[in-house]
Amino acid sequence: MTNNLPPIASPARTRAIMEEFGFRTKKQFGQNFLTNTDVLRRIVDAGEVTPDDDVIEIGPGIGALTEFLAASAHQVLALEIDTNLLPVLAETMGPYPNVTVLNQDVLQADLPALVAEHFDGQHNIKFVANLPYYITTPILMHLLTAPIEIAGITVMMQKEVASRLTAQPGTKDYGSLSIAVQNGMDVEVAFTVNRNSFVPAPNVDSAIVVLHKRQEPRAAIANQAAFTKLVKGSFAARRKTLWNNLQHLYGKETDAKVKIKAALNASDLEPSIRAERLSIEKFAELQKNLQNEGLL
Ligand code: SAM
Repeated sequence: MTNNLPPIASPARTRAIMEEFGFRTKKQFGQNFLTNTDVLRRIVDAGEVTPDDDVIEIGPGIGALTEFLAASAHQVLALEIDTNLLPVLAETMGPYPNVTVLNQDVLQADLPALVAEHFDGQHNIKFVANLPYYITTPILMHLLTAPIEIAGITVMMQKEVASRLTAQPGTKDYGSLSIAVQNGMDVEVAFTVNRNSFVPAPNVDSAIVVLHKRQEPRAAIANQAAFTKLVKGSFAARRKTLWNNLQHLYGKETDAKVKIKAALNASDLEPSIRAERLSIEKFAELQKNLQNEGLL
């Protein structure tokens, strides 16, 4: 990289750094460090990280991905929850003046405030990370609901979660997470990563997912809270019919049943259909028709 040392991610250097600081990885923080420089290069390529970009990295660990980002991006802001990693990063990031490390839980982070404080407003903002897998979904939701203009999100996660994020209607992985993310974002799996590329090796395989904001959402949502309630409730008992799940949501008494039937009818939906068959657009239409019947 910019110095004469081998990359942080080379297995020998990773081992030497951990020994020097007496650092042991912690399961509760999802610490599985990448030790495959080829994978790191491909992550930076998948994120199309250039000097036009300011990058926020979630969980730098000992800095394996951070140094690759530093070599490609304008500025890198790395948020790390584990205080034991701060002295390690102070040393490993020493040669990279465009990297700032903050001791910060990303889920508690005020992202607009961090962006305003650390970036100049002249560069695209991208998120790139090898995520702590135990909080993949909360982190994605935190990023997607933050009021900042995000040019792209490129993140490693458990392969099963990547499948749910990209799933299409009619498949077993399609569910409320697919809908929550795909309405506003285009999502694709860039490549998958074998568990042997990490120290320690996780119990699961991994995938790099790239997300870009869509110009327009797939469906206009009449009422976001009511839409989320409808989608989650429709998948509550996946193997049961939509009709059955909707009664759990809105009531089993005659009046509620009549209204649900009317909304299904107005949406051209058979009561016997299962939620996994409904596109995002169809859920949006159903929510509007339920709302017209007074069901929120
Ligand atoms: N980027 C490094 C790599 O690729 O080798 C480490 C990735 S490791 C899978 C996840 C990192 O996220 C760890 O460094 C962990 O301490 C950190 N982490 C876990 N929970 C976090 C949180 N809530 N906020 C910020 N960082 C977190």
